[in-house]
Amino acid sequence: MKNKKITRKITQRMYVLTTNGGGCIVDAVSQISSGDAPLISVAVMNQNYTNALLKNNERFALSILGMEVNPEIIKTFGLCSMRDINKFESVVMKEIEGIPVIEDCLGYMVLEKVDSIVNETHTLFIGKLIEADVFLEGEAMSYGYYQEHKEELLKIKTENGNTAWVCTVCGYVYYKEELPEDFQCPICGVTKELFQGNV
Ligand code: FE
Repeated sequence: MKNKKITRKITQRMYVLTTNGGGCIVDAVSQISSGDAPLISVAVMNQNYTNALLKNNERFALSILGMEVNPEIIKTFGLCSMRDINKFESVVMKEIEGIPVIEDCLGYMVLEKVDSIVNETHTLFIGKLIEADVFLEGEAMSYGYYQEHKEELLKIKTENGNTAWVCTVCGYVYYKEELPEDFQCPICGVTKELFQGNV
């Protein structure tokens, strides 16, 4: 392959995907049919906890994040796991068609799952649009912008000098003094060797 970087030119934006029991940040979202109830696809990492939840849920929602979004929302849904915190209690949510969506965003889409396709790293979930609304006019944050500004957006504060361990692959943060021997990142699955301590 001559230069795989060209794939970064594919337009991807920042979304919070939610379903019953959890949610995460996703960027690979596409509308793949037209009409009144179009089909929308979203790719979710196989290692992700939300992926497991989606297998047992018929509905999910996508909340579209704007350029002015509170970075705490990205931190909560992107770098934490439901295994450690209740994300729905850390961020202001609104229930639509039985699914919690983010209140501080440009708008949402609620989808009924119709299909899923598994590949080596991700599962592509396909949903039919059943409800949608616009909360705010504004530009959606691109995945490229997030990648470029990640450090300033996600500065990690550890209160009272606590130790935190950061996954150098996906950015997941584990807030404990010690990292257990057999620790595996709940987001991307790597082992403790790829964690950096004392941020
Ligand atoms: Fe990770």
